[in-house]
Formats: sequence, structure tokens, C-alpha cells
Amino acid sequence: MKPLNADLHCHSTVSDGLLAPADLVRRALANGVELLALTDHDELGGVAEAHATADELGMRFVDGVEVSISWGDDQTVHIVALGIDPANPALLEGLRQVRSGRDARAGRMAAELDKAGIHGAYEGALRHAGNPALISRSHFARYIVEQGHVKDVKSVFDNWLAKGKPGYVEHAWATLADALRWIVGGGGIAVIAHPARYRLSHAQRRELFSEFKDLGGRGIEVLSGSQKDDEVREFSRIAREFGFLASRGSDFHGPGESWIDLGRMPDLPEGLTPVWSQLV
Ligand code: AMP
Ligand code: MN
Ligand code: MN
Ligand code: MN
Repeated sequence: MKPLNADLHCHSTVSDGLLAPADLVRRALANGVELLALTDHDELGGVAEAHATADELGMRFVDGVEVSISWGDDQTVHIVALGIDPANPALLEGLRQVRSGRDARAGRMAAELDKAGIHGAYEGALRHAGNPALISRSHFARYIVEQGHVKDVKSVFDNWLAKGKPGYVEHAWATLADALRWIVGGGGIAVIAHPARYRLSHAQRRELFSEFKDLGGRGIEVLSGSQKDDEVREFSRIAREFGFLASRGSDFHGPGESWIDLGRMPDLPEGLTPVWSQLV
């Protein structure tokens, strides 16, 4: 049987993506995606438009969100929530709280960047984000490229915005327990996003996965736009060992600014249970 082209992780202009929700859905369809989830950072505002567009076009669609959490020693981890109810009050209130920290964090980032010779970054990032509650490092990166400091967004992260660089500030996002309470409590499926991107030791990683599982977490992104073949093999092994459902998501943000385009990942390795088998 031909594997389903599912893409269960991407971003629209409602967070730090470059395409409006409806345009993202059209692009996914044109790329051959058969099942799509929109997973903006800490925000459900794009889901209704995307879902309606997918319905019109006859494409299967899952409501989602990518929740930012802090875990362990100031590690930021992202949890993708799939099949949530976008009207769930606990989820909406939880996400509102997570977003409420972004504006002050952006102010602190701008102050650090100013010391590093990048001026006007708060106003510049806000112009890209459109809303203070949604300002992310991606918006800072776009402003810094626009100012001619470096040629692309990736170089901005390498020089200023990655952990340990001059524009990086620590920030307390949601706790893993809170995020899972909002997601699982509302009937959604929680998935660990892009597991290869965290700077964790093997022991810490295992600790994260067991804690996640104990709190009701069920899935892991075996395929993510940023994951290499050996990482795909490693997280396939982890999925089997922990009994996790396997997810597949591009983490697409926009043309020219992403690891991979919508739906353009390889198929899931054999023998894993796809998370979409549990999504109706
Ligand atoms: P924030 O939630 O404000 O910490 O921003 C995180 C976002 O920055 C991620 O969702 C990505 O869109 C983007 N990002 C993080 N690291 C990189 C990187 N190395 N290259 C390009 N974009 C990145
Ligand atoms: Mn992002
Ligand atoms: Mn992420
Ligand atoms: Mn993402």
C-alpha cells in the first residue's frame, strides 16, 4: 500500500511562518500532501482558516499547535499537539500564558543585541511579527538579515540567536507537565518535536522521553525536516523502545527559509505505528 503523505508540523504567519494559513494549505495540496496539521508556535489563531480551506479543497486536516516548554537546565523543548480542540478553555488559557512571556523576552533580547552592535531590533522584529505576543527569534533573524549584517537567517542563529550566543536570553516557557495536561486533558496527542535538535546527553534524552511518556505523551517525530538519516534511524529505535507513535513533519516556515518543503520528507521506516493511525 502506498504510504500516506502526512505532514504534521508547519507554521503560518500566525506564528513565525511566511505564508497565510490558507496559502499554506494550498501549497501543501500542490506538493501532494494528503493529511496536514498546522502547528503554529503557542497559538491556535490560524487553525480555523486552514481547516476551512482544507475542507474546501478536500484535503484531510488535523488541528494542531507547537507548545514551547522549558525542561531541565534551561533547555527549550517543543511539543507538537495534534487533534486538539481549538476551543478547549484550558488549552487556550495555557497558550495565552505562554505567549504572554514573549514580549518581555523580546525586549531583553533586543537589549543584548544592542550591546552586540545590532540596533533597533525590538521594533524591527515586531514589524515582522505584527503582534508583540508572537515575536520569536525568527522575526529577529529576518530583521537582522534585512539590516545587511549577514546573508541569511541561519547565519543569524549561528552568530547571535542560538543558545550561548550574544542575543540569546534564558526564558521560562511552560512546564512539560502543564503542557501535557492541556494537550492530553483536551483529548489531543502530544508528540516530541524534532528530537535531534536538543542539546541533551543520551541520559538526559532518555529522562525527557520517560517523563514525557509518564505524563501521557504518545508520539515522537521520527521524520522532521531537519533530521538526517542516522537520526531517523536513532529515533525509530527510540519510538519502538518507548512504544511511541511515529510522526512525520516538515517544520516548514516558508519558501527559501526552511530545511524542506511541505510533504517532501521520506516515508516513515517500516514497522512503526504512524501517529495518524490514531487521528480521525
Ligand atoms: P523562539 O520560539 O522565539 O525561541 O524561536 C524559535 C524558532 O526559531 C524556531 O521555531 C525556528 O523557526 C527558528 N530557529 C531556531 N533555530 C534555528 C536555526 N538554527 N536556523 C533557522 N531557524 C531557527
Ligand atoms: Mn519557528
Ligand atoms: Mn520547534
Ligand atoms: Mn516548528
